[in-house]
Amino acid sequence: MKIFDAHCDVLMKLFLDPNISFLDSEKLQITYQSLQETSGNVQCFAIYVPEAVHPDMRFIAALSMVDIFYEKVLTMPGMKLVTAQKDIEALKEEEIGAVLTLEGCDCIGGDLLKLKTLLRLGVTSVGLTWNFANRLADGAMEKRAGGLTGFGKNVVKTLNQHHIWCDVSHLSEKAFWDVIELADYPIASHSNVHRLCRHPRNLKDDQIKALLKKNGVVGVTFVPQFLTEKPVANISDVIKQIDYIANLGGGRQIGFGSDFDGNDQMVQNISSYRDYSNLINELHKHYPADFIQGILFDNFAARFPKNKKVSSPLFVT
Ligand SMILES: [Zn+2]
Repeated sequence: MKIFDAHCDVLMKLFLDPNISFLDSEKLQITYQSLQETSGNVQCFAIYVPEAVHPDMRFIAALSMVDIFYEKVLTMPGMKLVTAQKDIEALKEEEIGAVLTLEGCDCIGGDLLKLKTLLRLGVTSVGLTWNFANRLADGAMEKRAGGLTGFGKNVVKTLNQHHIWCDVSHLSEKAFWDVIELADYPIASHSNVHRLCRHPRNLKDDQIKALLKKNGVVGVTFVPQFLTEKPVANISDVIKQIDYIANLGGGRQIGFGSDFDGNDQMVQNISSYRDYSNLINELHKHYPADFIQGILFDNFAARFPKNKKVSSPLFVT
């Protein structure tokens, strides 16, 4: 079955260690070979600039990751850049869709031109913060717990204009509500249910309901600390997340954002992309096939931005 995975950190690993091969490295949880084993998959590749990078160098680091995406990911046979829904529909058998996303806007500082440059380079989904504060908003782990700044609001409006997903994963609760009010295309690429696991990265019931009302999708993530308060997470904890969101009325708005390559600890029996097969086997014990196809692929794919609005003759789609 085809998989739409809304979040991974492969680009960060390739950035930090140029010797890692995207083809088949054992240091990666998602490789070209593992993506290729099922046809028609769509994988989101996040630009995440590590905190250790000096603020003055973060935009250069983000551009380096864009370069890695084009040079090391998109050059693989059958890998296709996806920037609009029509690109997903056009994927042939054997082809894999690759979506470029941004996790945290620290790299743009307070400069909208830098954001627009990244959009022009193909970024189709933008998370405003990582865990801490930046010029746009506070992240989920920032003690101040503030909302969107004036600049953050301008960024959300820019994303609306360009038909870009605004990713609420990692935002503080207050910033989440500010985004919900403003954003036309909100999603949560990799967030779980707070009621099932009380972590600040997770979404409370009213947040999930608000996201569903805005036609968003919740990408259930395989990070053990966001799945359960028990020391070990297993596949049944992933199923509980799906059941819970479905019971809130989101059965057609659940997807997956694995966070592969962004996290050392993994769920038992889901330690790499290939282990989606273990999850799928378990899903078949609980849900009908069309529901499974929805959460694995269709729910995110159906809401993928339809087309980017051209803002100037220079805007490259
Ligand atoms: Zn993340």
